[in-house]
Amino acid sequence: MNMETSLIPDRRRLLSELNRKILSAQNNNTLLALIIVHLKYLREINNEFGYEIADQLLQELFNKLESLLQPGDFIVRIGDNEFALVLSNLNGTGQGIIAANRILGLCDNPMEISGQLIKIKLAAGVSIYPDHALDSEVLFKHADTAVTYARRNQDGYMIYSDIHDHDGTTTYVMRTELEEATINDKLEFFYQPKIHLKDRTIAGFEVLARWTSNTLGEVKPDTFINLAEATGLIAPLTVKAITIALRQCKDILAINSNYSIALNISAQILNDPDITRLIMNTISIWCTNPSQLILEITEGAIMSNPEASLNSLGQLHNSGIKISIDDFGTGYSSLSYLKKLPVDEIKIDKSFVLNMNEDKGSANIVKSVIDLAHNFNLNTVAEGVENEEILNELERMGCDVAQGFYIARPMPHDELNPWIMNWGN
Ligand code: C2E
Ligand code: CA
Ligand code: CA
Repeated sequence: MNMETSLIPDRRRLLSELNRKILSAQNNNTLLALIIVHLKYLREINNEFGYEIADQLLQELFNKLESLLQPGDFIVRIGDNEFALVLSNLNGTGQGIIAANRILGLCDNPMEISGQLIKIKLAAGVSIYPDHALDSEVLFKHADTAVTYARRNQDGYMIYSDIHDHDGTTTYVMRTELEEATINDKLEFFYQPKIHLKDRTIAGFEVLARWTSNTLGEVKPDTFINLAEATGLIAPLTVKAITIALRQCKDILAINSNYSIALNISAQILNDPDITRLIMNTISIWCTNPSQLILEITEGAIMSNPEASLNSLGQLHNSGIKISIDDFGTGYSSLSYLKKLPVDEIKIDKSFVLNMNEDKGSANIVKSVIDLAHNFNLNTVAEGVENEEILNELERMGCDVAQGFYIARPMPHDELNPWIMNWGN
């Protein structure tokens, strides 16, 4: 191959080659991976070493990427600092991930260009035919979006995935990595204290999952919980949360029988009787006193399948576990269900609590929810308490329990005991 011509950016050639490869993948029933590789900090390299060295570096990078290819694969330069690789004849997505790993491995050692050692950083975005798209344009678009995300997050690669996070923006997270993290105990569980408003004593702790991915860095819980729900990982994740939290808090719960541990439970757990049973078994193994355990279920989750939820909640409640309705106020029409549901507590959504000071409407909602809950003999918890003024206002309103950054942020287990000692009760 003529190196000079191959280094001319050529997106059109990529798309026409990609079309041919897609046809043959279709005929042979194989997968195809499109990987866009982005060389980071090209401008800085240009400034520091000059254009000539930078050009040689790009040529060397091209050669190294080309050397990773198998017969039938191809590589095209598609931009100043971007190359596209098409890997054909794959049997599974895993091979695309392995290839992306190998590509990133090129950053491990500095490249020697005209006697200069240059450390490079790469980002890669992967899309797979037919999993992510059936035609070349869309496949390209997805790999391009994935590499954009990979560039924003530290160094690393991203596999395109059509998961959406709460903000409505598309997030590209590797399911395989989350799965691996769940199975191999790489998820962490943090604890956020809650206090009684009447005397400011500790009421308990909410368990909140944390995940730092090797390639994406810290991933927001909302994002990876969504991903776990979309990929069937939420059941093993919940089992881990219960097992680890109850094991870590065994001593704390034994010392003070007034403390409780609150765990978040997704809709899917309630909608599937087998998973509910699995969760109940896990609880029975690890929990000595079920009345110290609170399961937080969002209003929306209950309303997504009220009949199934009612059934599962009934079983859990009968075993002595407390049930809390999370994010209350954000769902809809649950008032009529409040009567029917075996519920002990309502957690007022933080969106109302956060704005209580400035927004009279929010304050009115908070007060109404507290009164409503008390009419049904339910405990009230306000989350998102960020200052003293709100804490005091909630107390005046008759709210029972408060949780929020003003009291404490979610903390790892080893900080919990010192925090409890410091709080005093
Ligand atoms: P959530 O159950 O509503 O949890 C409360 C969220 O509010 C937590 O966010 C917490 O860090 C945050 N928060 C607490 N106090 C304050 C405050 O004063 N101000 C503000 N602005 N925020 C506060 P986090 O940890 O990011 O969790 C987000 C959501 O992810 C949780 O919302 C929950 O729905 C879900 N989640 C977390 N861990 C798990 C888990 O183990 N299982 C399941 N199913 N869901 C989980
Ligand atoms: Ca919660
Ligand atoms: Ca909540």
